Amino acid sequence: MPKITDQTLRLLPKAAGAYVLVIDLPGDIALQNKRFAGTVLHKGIYLYCGSAKGPGGIAARVKRHCRADKKPHWHVDELTSNGVGQVVSVLVVPGGNECDLRTSLSTVPGVEAPVHGFGSSDCKCCPAHLLQAGNPDAAIVYLASMS
Ligand SMILES: [Zn+2]
Repeated sequence: MPKITDQTLRLLPKAAGAYVLVIDLPGDIALQNKRFAGTVLHKGIYLYCGSAKGPGGIAARVKRHCRADKKPHWHVDELTSNGVGQVVSVLVVPGGNECDLRTSLSTVPGVEAPVHGFGSSDCKCCPAHLLQAGNPDAAIVYLASMS
């Protein structure tokens, strides 16, 4: 799976659909969001499943996730803003569904949902839309097989 570059971002589809962000968290962080205040995310590789239905579709949303200087809006923004962590790769699925992606990824060895409800406030079927990849190589290989 290629690393994200400005060129990759230009190629993202403007269609609505779902995506998986691969996020590298280089150190432990304590979440600030009121709901999860004090919860520690340990350094490692995280997978965030999201969907984009608005104008600009997947392209606009993923570009936003990759910007370091955004105003926090989604739970995942704490991991991807101000140099805390970084989006290192992305899988996009035009027409896809974030919960289906989460379900598939949860079958990968080592993948867990460390914070109940994270990124999934509107979802009734998933424990969370943020997953930690305990075995990053297994997760990356799995993502590559999905694309
Ligand atoms: Zn879900």
